[in-house]
Amino acid sequence: MTIIAVDGPAASGKGTIARALARHYGLPCLDTGLLYRAVGLSVLKAGGDPDHEADALAACDFDAPLLDDPALRSEAVGSLASRVSVHPGVRQALVQRQRDFATQPGGAILDGRDIGTVIAPDADAKIFVTASVHVRARRRYDDALAHGGHPDMDSLIADIQARDTRDMSRDHAPLRMADGADLLDTSDLTIEAAIRQAIALVDAQLEGRR
Ligand code: C5P
Repeated sequence: MTIIAVDGPAASGKGTIARALARHYGLPCLDTGLLYRAVGLSVLKAGGDPDHEADALAACDFDAPLLDDPALRSEAVGSLASRVSVHPGVRQALVQRQRDFATQPGGAILDGRDIGTVIAPDADAKIFVTASVHVRARRRYDDALAHGGHPDMDSLIADIQARDTRDMSRDHAPLRMADGADLLDTSDLTIEAAIRQAIALVDAQLEGRR
């Protein structure tokens, strides 16, 4: 069984890298941010307050089809996810689902903020993907333009900085590089180069474990 943990801040490229690693190693992949996004969107739909733990907890038993809702991908829902994810009860409610996915026969790849630190601290390989705030905001900008949106660079930068600060400073499972993780800065890399480097880092970690 091979478990690979991919963590990093918003728009660092960790999702793209996790999916590429999943194809390369033939492993199933879970984007754990989607779980927090689903909780955030459920709170909104129920008219609750994402900063109120009881409201956020009530949203944790969302219906599975919500995970396919395209609305989950918006930056607004990303911010809601970041707000509900500070509540320890919410994190606890989502832990088992993630650990079950990680420990399935054959192994798995999970990407998120606390995979290498909390969900799978004994993962066989851990990567921490990052990029500068400007590069990350530019990716969101290009993405929004490509989807017919009218993005504003300054507000994208502000959103990403606010999310980084909240994710890194929360008391429970804050975003940080796990012990034993390798850092992959994608600021100046093409997607192809970032994927090549990620595979090389994972190969080296798996080799070192043998
Ligand atoms: O990765 P993504 O941007 O979809 O995550 C949305 C939010 O969900 C993050 O900003 C973070 O607050 C939260 N999250 C988390 N732990 C994870 C994955 C996501 O707290 N493992």
